[in-house]
Amino acid sequence: MDCIFCKILKNEIPSKRIYEDEKVIAIMDINPVVDGHVLIIPKEHVEDYQGLKPELLQHIYKVADKLTKELMTKLNSKGLTFVVNYGDSQLVKHFHLHLLPDYQLKEKEMDVDKVFEILTK
Ligand code: 5GP
Ligand code: ZN
Repeated sequence: MDCIFCKILKNEIPSKRIYEDEKVIAIMDINPVVDGHVLIIPKEHVEDYQGLKPELLQHIYKVADKLTKELMTKLNSKGLTFVVNYGDSQLVKHFHLHLLPDYQLKEKEMDVDKVFEILTK
């Protein structure tokens, strides 16, 4: 299957991982909209939100809660936005939740390497 996130999960494409457990990974978005733009990606290939089992959604929600607190503390953010794209708005057809610290509050200031360093130290 030609899925870019499955390739990232198999380490065939490199990524900056800030979190991993048995069900999901969280990586830095390659083309961030804001500083600290992170994607939570389930290890199971599920095309979009409609295919997500409630248990997996619940787990993603727990991870999102943990990472929201971490991102906001480490980046000193005042807010954070969750985004799930669907249909033609969803470019990668493997479900993912976007975490966007300070979306609509602050301009992007750092490159991804710098943010990754802050989040993983
Ligand atoms: P969506 O499918 O929700 O429209 O957005 C896909 C997101 O995945 C975009 O924000 C895009 O920058 C990100 N993305 C696409 N390809 C890669 C990749 O190879 N690595 C990483 N880290 N992010 C990617
Ligand atoms: Zn996939």
